[in-house]
Amino acid sequence: MPHYCTLIPGDGIGPEVSQAAVRALSATGVDIVWKRAELNEAIILESGKTLPKYLLDSLNETRVGLKGPVTTPVAGGFQSVNVQLRKTLDLFANVRPVKTLPGLKTRFQDVAIDMVIFRENTEDLYSGLEHEVVKDVVTSLKVITRVASERIANYAFNYARLNNRTHVAAIHKANIMKLADGLFLRCCRETAAKFPEIHYKELIVDNASMQLVIRPETFDLLLLPNLYGDIISDLAAGLVGGLGIVPGANMGEHHAVFEAVHGSAPDIAGQGKANPTAMILSSVMLLTHIGEKDAAHRLQSAVEKVYAEGKYLTGDVGGASSTIEFTDAVVRALKD
Ligand code: ATP
Repeated sequence: MPHYCTLIPGDGIGPEVSQAAVRALSATGVDIVWKRAELNEAIILESGKTLPKYLLDSLNETRVGLKGPVTTPVAGGFQSVNVQLRKTLDLFANVRPVKTLPGLKTRFQDVAIDMVIFRENTEDLYSGLEHEVVKDVVTSLKVITRVASERIANYAFNYARLNNRTHVAAIHKANIMKLADGLFLRCCRETAAKFPEIHYKELIVDNASMQLVIRPETFDLLLLPNLYGDIISDLAAGLVGGLGIVPGANMGEHHAVFEAVHGSAPDIAGQGKANPTAMILSSVMLLTHIGEKDAAHRLQSAVEKVYAEGKYLTGDVGGASSTIEFTDAVVRALKD
C-alpha cells in the first residue's frame, strides 16, 4: 500500500529544496504518492485566501504533509501562511531536532550538540491580536492558556520518555510576564511532576540564550512558548551550521506537517544553491511518522555520510556544490 502525502513546495527556495527531498524520499524505495498543493504569494494575493480550500482538503485527506517555506510579508500584507496552517489544523507542537552533523566545520565543531526543541505552535504573541489604541500607540496580545501549555508540556515529556531523553529545560520570562509566562511555567512544573525520572529545570530566556552559546552540549530537550521557540530555534540552528540543516515537524492530534526551520530565503531563490538538508531531514521525520523507520534510518545515515565525506556540500556550510549535486550525493549514498 502506498503512503499518500500532500506536497506543498511553497515559494522562494521552497520548490528547489522540496524537489530535492522528494528525490531523496523516492530513492529510499518507500512508495509515496504525492498530492501536490501549490501555495505562494501570487496565489494568495490572487485568491484573497491564505489557505486555499484545495490545500486544506488535501491535508484533511492525507493527514501528512511535506511543506516548503511560503514567504510572509513583513510589517503588513497577508497573515503568515505557516501560522494560519498551524492554527487551522491545530498543529500544536513544533518539534525541531538540532544535531551536530559529522565532519561539518562550524564554530562549535568540537562539541557534540544534540537537542530537541519543543515550541508551542498555536498561541502566545502569534495570536495576531494587535490593536492601534490611538495613533502611534499599539498593543499586541500575548495569549497563554492552560490547555495549550499543558498539551505541549505533555507532548515534550512523553517524547523524552519514549526517546531516552533525560533532561527537560523550560524556557520563560516569568520574572517579567508573571501571569502569562507564569502560567506556562506552572503547567510545565505540574507536568514534570508526572515524569519523575526526567530531570527538569527552568531557565529565563535571556540566560538560556547565553547558556546555549557557552555550553550547548548540556541541553537535551527544550520546552518553550511560541515566540521564544521561534527565536531560540534559529539560535540553535546557528550552533550546528545554520538554517540550511535544521529540520522540523508540526504535530497535531490528527495531522502532521513536516517543514524546515528556515524561511523562503528570497536572497538565494532560483539560483540552485539552497541547502536541501533541512528539507531532507524533515523527510526523515516524515518517514518515521508514517512507520517507515528503516528508510528513515537509511536516509539519515546517507545524509550523514555525505557530510562526513565533505565533498558535495552547499555554499552555506562551506562547500561549493549546488542543491542538485548535494542531492545526487545523498541518492548515491543511499544506494551504496
Ligand atoms: P522566515 O521569517 O520566513 O522564517 P527568515 O527571515 O528567518 O524567514 P530565511 O528565509 O530563513 O529568513 O533566511 C535567513 C538567511 O538564511 C538568508 O540569508 C538565507 O539565504 C539563509 N538560508 C535559509 N535557508 C537556507 C538554505 N536552505 N540554504 C542556504 N541558505 C539558507
